[in-house]
Amino acid sequence: MSQLELKGVRGKLSYWALKTFIDCPLRYKFLVEDGIRTPDKDFRGAIIGATLHYTVERSFFYSKSASWIFLNTPRYFAKLVDRAKILRWRSATDKEQTLQKCIEMAANMRDFLVEHSYIYGRKVEIEQKVYANITPDLSLGGKPDLQFIDDASKSIEIWDLKAVEDSIRLDKMQLWVYRYILGQLNPGYTISAMFVTPLLRKVIKPDFTEQMNQSYLSKVKETWYSIKQCRVANNFPPKPSIVCRYCEFKETQCV
Ligand code: SF4
Repeated sequence: MSQLELKGVRGKLSYWALKTFIDCPLRYKFLVEDGIRTPDKDFRGAIIGATLHYTVERSFFYSKSASWIFLNTPRYFAKLVDRAKILRWRSATDKEQTLQKCIEMAANMRDFLVEHSYIYGRKVEIEQKVYANITPDLSLGGKPDLQFIDDASKSIEIWDLKAVEDSIRLDKMQLWVYRYILGQLNPGYTISAMFVTPLLRKVIKPDFTEQMNQSYLSKVKETWYSIKQCRVANNFPPKPSIVCRYCEFKETQCV
């Protein structure tokens, strides 16, 4: 394939799309290029994640006080329990354990917010889509869960909420992308970024060294180059190491 053919391919991608391609190019083709959705396989994980987002993001959306969150968190549990009723649980035990996990996580999150009350006076952006040019032909975007902006000290603190029980599953490159984009969009501001993991009761703040910055930047560029090649050749090879249901859904053999 000539460089000339690839030159014409421009793109605006979310980090999620980029990561999907890294996991499996064929899955990326189904989800991103064709816009095909299949039923969510892991609804247990989905409902736990939803609890976290409801309790934190909606709380900031409606009010910015720790006491308000303290009083209103049970309302969100009730909503989630209602939502959970329509799901096909594997067993009554699975449903009960998941709801217990949600309650534990939301309670930990509420305690965490009370401890981190310094953020309450700050401007907050919730799940705002942000894009920046990462190469001349690629605009890469993301949706950081929360951004706390302090114009007085010219600083932005990014929180990415994760409902994980094991820190190995955290994707540092995602946090790096948010940090990179917000740095491009807000020159002169100090950008910090961290994972907030209420099930682990931890804040994890990676230290992004210059070497890491360069390696993530190269990874993004290489992936974008591969996407362009696949697009031009209209060939997105399967990478079945990640188990998903897309091949089954499309009745295509997952080799
Ligand atoms: S089933 Fe496997 S090969 Fe097929 S899209 Fe999913 S991960 Fe890729």
